[in-house]
Amino acid sequence: MTDAGTALTNWAGNITYSAKELHRPQSLDALRALVADSAKVRVLGSGHSFNEIAEPGADGVLLSLTALPPSVEVDTAARTVRVAGGVRYAELARVVHGHGLALPNMASLPHISVAGSVATGTHGSGVTNGSLASAVREVELVTADGSAVRIGRGDDRFDGAVTALGALGVVTALTLDLEPDYRVAQQVFTELPLAGLDFDAVAASAYSVSLFTGWRTSGFAQVWLKRRTDRPSADFPWAAPATEAMHPVPGMPAVNCTQQFGVPGPWHERLPHFRAEFTPSSGAELQSEYLLPRPYALDALHALDAVRETVAPVLQICEVRTVAADAQWLSPAYGRDTVALHFTWVEDLAAVLPVVRRVEEALDPFDPRPHWGKVFAVPARVLRGRYPRLGDFRALVDSLDPGGKFTNAFVREVLGSGDRPS
Ligand SMILES: Cc1cc2nc3c(=O)[nH]c(=O)nc-3n(C[C@H](O)[C@H](O)[C@H](O)COP(=O)(O)OP(=O)(O)OC[C@H]3O[C@@H](n4cnc5c(N)ncnc54)[C@H](O)[C@@H]3O)c2cc1C
Repeated sequence: MTDAGTALTNWAGNITYSAKELHRPQSLDALRALVADSAKVRVLGSGHSFNEIAEPGADGVLLSLTALPPSVEVDTAARTVRVAGGVRYAELARVVHGHGLALPNMASLPHISVAGSVATGTHGSGVTNGSLASAVREVELVTADGSAVRIGRGDDRFDGAVTALGALGVVTALTLDLEPDYRVAQQVFTELPLAGLDFDAVAASAYSVSLFTGWRTSGFAQVWLKRRTDRPSADFPWAAPATEAMHPVPGMPAVNCTQQFGVPGPWHERLPHFRAEFTPSSGAELQSEYLLPRPYALDALHALDAVRETVAPVLQICEVRTVAADAQWLSPAYGRDTVALHFTWVEDLAAVLPVVRRVEEALDPFDPRPHWGKVFAVPARVLRGRYPRLGDFRALVDSLDPGGKFTNAFVREVLGSGDRPS
């Protein structure tokens, strides 16, 4: 089955893919044949990236896995789950929870596909929580000639194979580690000043912590704490508890957000900020995010504070989270405990881009790695210097896809075969 006729765009609508149709193979065999017979291929997940990472290029094939069986197979004894390549976190979490098990963490919304999320290094928050890719123990790929390849933890290639930008092949399934079911209580605090901020203490004060600011003032309008009820809970003496339900973006309806006021609930109904049953239509927004070593957090926040008058007019909200170091060669959190500085911009790219460059200039001393799925202007040659294992990743691409069937313009730049104009 294929879709044809209407322009294919990402969720935010800022990218129109050049492919005229979206191929939706209905069986693994059909998928393998399509891949083997095509010169250039990219997979579209749930389309929540804000740049051309999924763009297949002229005459390339764009394919979706949504017509394949959306299988989610839980092995309760092994505490693992094998999830098909087109499944989104909301569905995965529902099934896992139904088996009395849990994922270690989730992103801000559950509507994103698992394969697309781990491909770009997507993360939630928490000083001890790695990116979502760190839960993956095995990847199943269909490679350029249509063969099926499994790469599991312990394989020399594994650390290049999960956060791989879609460059190795079609991820048809992933196996993830699970843990026993747990409950989370979410509480929002308001008005945390930047002056005197003990960032490490605040970031470590709960299982997952997010700080939000519109940079209209020097501080954080909201702090969201997600506390596991099976772990000791620390006080939060630095700000006052919210007295009404909050949305991170001022003026937006809190009804779309997950339950607050410390009411305990299942992990998958508290870790995301947004409810699974609330379906965001199209996003009137753009996003950027920079991940840098956590010891730089306070200096980086002060550097942003110094440019806040430039940032605030095009900003909907800035979110500050933490991510534990992981081992994926292309993960923005590779090898370093990380602070992630996220920006939800207004949807006007022309107005946003100069501000993105200003933010990148302000953060440059802190060795930032941009989120692979968001808007950034850092030239690829600079990025390459920030990934010490890029050479190993290049070799992995060469070995699994020597003809570059899955290498689009975005990946070519990252690998060093051509820079984006800056
Ligand atoms: C509203 C919103 C909230 C977000 N919140 C967060 C957040 O909390 N934390 C965070 O880190 N990021 C966040 N993001 C960014 C988002 O998680 C990433 O852009 C992620 O890649 C989205 O997954 P996707 O399936 O939509 O990816 P897509 O944009 O569809 O694809 C991303 C990449 O993955 C590849 N890919 C997808 N599926 C496959 C497959 N089966 N096989 C091979 N390659 C594949 C694509 O080719 C592409 O290269 C958010 C984005 C939005 C729009």
